[in-house]
Amino acid sequence: MSKRDYYDVLGVSKNASPEELKKAYRKLAIKYHPDKNPDDKVSEEKFKEAAEAYEVLSDSNKKARYDQYGHAGMGGAGGFGGGQHMSMDDIFSHFGDIFGGAFGGGFGGGFGGQGGGRRRVNRGTNLRVKVKLNLKEIANGVEKKIKLNKYVGCDTCSGTGAERGSGQSTCQRCHGRGQITQVTNTFLGQMQTASTCPECNGEGKVIKNHCKSCYGNGIVKGEEVVNFKIPAGVAEGMQLSISGKGNMAARGGVAGDLLVLIEEEDHPDLIRDGNNLLYDLYVNFADAALGNSTDVPTIDGKARIKIAAGTQGGRVLRLKGKGLPDVNGYGRGDILVNVNVWTPKTLSKEEKDILEKLKTSPNFKPSPSSKDKSYFDRMREFFS
Ligand SMILES: [Zn+2]
Ligand SMILES: [Zn+2]
Repeated sequence: MSKRDYYDVLGVSKNASPEELKKAYRKLAIKYHPDKNPDDKVSEEKFKEAAEAYEVLSDSNKKARYDQYGHAGMGGAGGFGGGQHMSMDDIFSHFGDIFGGAFGGGFGGGFGGQGGGRRRVNRGTNLRVKVKLNLKEIANGVEKKIKLNKYVGCDTCSGTGAERGSGQSTCQRCHGRGQITQVTNTFLGQMQTASTCPECNGEGKVIKNHCKSCYGNGIVKGEEVVNFKIPAGVAEGMQLSISGKGNMAARGGVAGDLLVLIEEEDHPDLIRDGNNLLYDLYVNFADAALGNSTDVPTIDGKARIKIAAGTQGGRVLRLKGKGLPDVNGYGRGDILVNVNVWTPKTLSKEEKDILEKLKTSPNFKPSPSSKDKSYFDRMREFFS
């Protein structure tokens, strides 16, 4: 089925003012409100259609895109591409705006009548920990064991919150639905609204005698040792989410998550740049001219590299595959060795004499070939 034009849906002209749009939407929202049309699929569709049209036309950016491209322009950022509809929660979240704060809440809760009520499931809160890793742990991945202070299920009542043998019973006030419906008189006429049952806090069940250990919460403060794996290649600031290892929820709900924030320990020699590692090597002038080999630190030891005779300062040598593995498994970085040629800062009389003699020698006259490109040339290449 093709989508109806948003202006047609709201019954307004293309030049409708924001006030007119709001008014038109308000009228439709009241007419097709699910509480007024229980179990009426057609009304529900019309209700959603109006909400979607208003969502787009009330937003100047989305409206401009819609005016230019029609429905085709509403994919991606618009959020309604491919016939995807707004959820009822989305729709109700906008109602505060349309009907004023006082009605937002009432309408928001108001859709609970469908499907026998929404019983609330308790959810434990998330826990956050920071984990500091050295380069070796980042390179290889690591398994961590951490003792957490957190809410755990109460042993005395097995997490139910009820004293042994007393059990839970269905809430009398809401008959287990977790919500209570009320008819209220508003300036829009009589409205049926639903709200969370205050007796059972929306759980649908009440406890007769509270467990003495946890005061009926089903959770107590405790400790838990948690093991988790950190994959290779993670970086400072990344956050891993370990499902269900956060605080236990009250009375048998769903536990929260453990969020692990990665911090990196600085390496004394190697500087991380993405998956590559950078190392500043200083060689003396004689080694650079004559050639030699030297050790370079790596993640788990050292590697020997050759300094070719005639190596210029600023040259970058690459130790392929000695960097960090990509966290998503796309290969491995390198160690990039930046060669600095050390110029002596102080000289003895004898050293001076030798250099004085050498300095007029033809080989000491700089004559860079294209292979000895300047720093600026290499930067230009890098960014092009
Ligand atoms: Zn207990
Ligand atoms: Zn209740």
